[in-house]
Amino acid sequence: MINQKVQKLLSTMSLKDKIGQLVQFGKLEQREIELIKNGKVGSLLNVYGAERVNEIQKIAMESGASIPLLIGDDVIHGYKTIFPIPLGESCSWDLQLIEETSAIQAREASTEGINVIFAPMVDIARDPRWGRVAEGAGEDVYLGSKIAAARVKGIQRNDWSDRPKIVACPKHFIGYSAAEGGRDYNSVDISERSLRETYLPPFKAAIDAGAGTIMCAFNDLNGVPASANKFLLTTLLRDELKFEGVVISDWESIEELIYHGLAKNKRDAAIKAMNAGVDIDMNSSSYNDHLMELVQAGDFSVDLIDEVVTRILKLKIKLGLFDNAITDIKLCNEIIRCEEHVKKAREAARKSIVLLKNNNILPLNKNIKSIAVIGPLADDKSNPLGCWSFKGKPENVITVLRGISNKVSNITEIYHTRGSGILESEESEIQKAVEIARKSEVAIMVLGESSDMSGENHNRSSIGIPECQRKLIGEVLKTGTPMVLVLMNGRPITLVSENDTVTAILETWQLGDESGNAIADVLFGDYNPSGKLVMSFPRNVGQVPIYYNYKSTGRPNFKKYLDVDETPLYPFGYGLSYTNFSYKNMVLEKHKITQDESLRVTIEIENCGLVEGEEIVQLYIRDLVASITRPVKELKGFQKIFLKPGECRTIEFILKHEELGFYDENFNFIVETGEFEIWIGTSSVEGLKSGFEVVK
Ligand code: BGC
Repeated sequence: MINQKVQKLLSTMSLKDKIGQLVQFGKLEQREIELIKNGKVGSLLNVYGAERVNEIQKIAMESGASIPLLIGDDVIHGYKTIFPIPLGESCSWDLQLIEETSAIQAREASTEGINVIFAPMVDIARDPRWGRVAEGAGEDVYLGSKIAAARVKGIQRNDWSDRPKIVACPKHFIGYSAAEGGRDYNSVDISERSLRETYLPPFKAAIDAGAGTIMCAFNDLNGVPASANKFLLTTLLRDELKFEGVVISDWESIEELIYHGLAKNKRDAAIKAMNAGVDIDMNSSSYNDHLMELVQAGDFSVDLIDEVVTRILKLKIKLGLFDNAITDIKLCNEIIRCEEHVKKAREAARKSIVLLKNNNILPLNKNIKSIAVIGPLADDKSNPLGCWSFKGKPENVITVLRGISNKVSNITEIYHTRGSGILESEESEIQKAVEIARKSEVAIMVLGESSDMSGENHNRSSIGIPECQRKLIGEVLKTGTPMVLVLMNGRPITLVSENDTVTAILETWQLGDESGNAIADVLFGDYNPSGKLVMSFPRNVGQVPIYYNYKSTGRPNFKKYLDVDETPLYPFGYGLSYTNFSYKNMVLEKHKITQDESLRVTIEIENCGLVEGEEIVQLYIRDLVASITRPVKELKGFQKIFLKPGECRTIEFILKHEELGFYDENFNFIVETGEFEIWIGTSSVEGLKSGFEVVK
């Protein structure tokens, strides 16, 4: 059916109309409108509002070959209901939740005519200096792949029939997060092994989950920028991963081939990108300006253009754009920021919070007599929205101060002052902060980064709490009032001195609209924190890159630095709770399995504390001797369970044989015989240990 429809369309399209399908623009002014009328544009981004989108779809349908437009948007953690930044939400390890919030984001976007979502970002991130760690799922390949699949499924759930569907666009293919020095856009030089073992699996998972488009990356990878890299875009993506969808360039990344020193001019850039396998040119106009002359000059055949157009038309048909590209404006009011969505945003926000330290101070009593709420982020309505939240509105944000006021009893006296700017000290404010801390039972310090200190091209070379805020902490600490540090930040930050001095630390990332309510839920025990870190927190920047699944080296016991321990301050998988979970009776069904067998492992988990709570149970393995060296630990399973006080549950893991494999020297996937260690525990560094052997 679809093929027939495509053939029919192709037969009515001129070469100009066909090339137009490969052209995408990022603004809609008179020039673009004229080009659309002329059939020379197939897609847009940065066009907002149902009325505006409907209008332009009508123009597209009434001109040229009558082909509706793809309308893309960066819905990274919310369209108009803003959810936690992806790095934060990933700390929930809650795949169902993540799928659900992604579905909500797509549902809202679809009411305004968006049909391509430029997400999820599935780049594995191990360098917290890089600002875009905020947009991803952290450092781990296994967890990152599960989250990539959940997000794609959510974005493409498409549980409506009255308007066009949505397609996901996992990005950035590939290696983007390995930018040297954590500097965005920087060159990447990684081996084929780390490309395949670390960076590729989340893309594979996203493709297997049905992702209909993929965005290629800005970066130079081993000498050839991703947007002109045939090995990546054709050999790996099409031939090996069998991706049949549409490849979109990153913003002007085709033209940027000139600045990389790979192309002489835009014409040359268009040739290189087309040859590599980029289907749609995002905003550089290289295809718009040059593809026609290139086909006429014989550089490209019409067949090649047809092949690309076929992919794009198939997508447009699948999205239902030919049936009805127009959305019903009334739906926006009904769906956007409806009660259900805001409720989910609060749930996601509280599940994203990670308790890093608690010296028996949290949860606080709602009848507490006095609280000082201090910090530049305590009553801030815009920074909790995080990066990439353009359509979020500060007026929808519940601040921490507001959340606390909503929560405490009427005998509680709340004092508040900023105490400092985010990046600049304010002397008079410090004084005020000290005064209110002095008369309070607890000081809640809401500190961290502004939303524009992470995200695209917002990298940092030192990743601590800004100096002026640290000074504020120092002054308030002198009062002797117990201090709870509530952190808002878009990346792992260095916290050694804070960890030594303050009473409790709550990592809240940037939680979106419901920030203050979610944080107050945790501070006062209405929700027992359950988040676990998805990126290691280094002690200092000199340790970067730092991640839990490193390789042993030939001298594992040698100290790695003279001046700092080699371990992170807080490891991957770490996060505290208001209760204690005890792990016991780990049982392996067998201690020997064959290369194609799965292993069943059970363990008992008991909630030994006084409050109910969720625990993220993590399973790690180590392949002790292999023909290619293996990491000291690899996550291979996890489960999130809820236990009432005193409740004990046996949970089961089925470790599939393919989880034990790796790529051999020729990059064939194999499972070797040999001994393995296995841990099940509460983080990457704590757990019960056992072992098994894979035999012939
Ligand atoms: C970013 C992409 C984004 C695109 C469109 C680029 O600068 O790298 O992630 O999707 O812009 O806004």
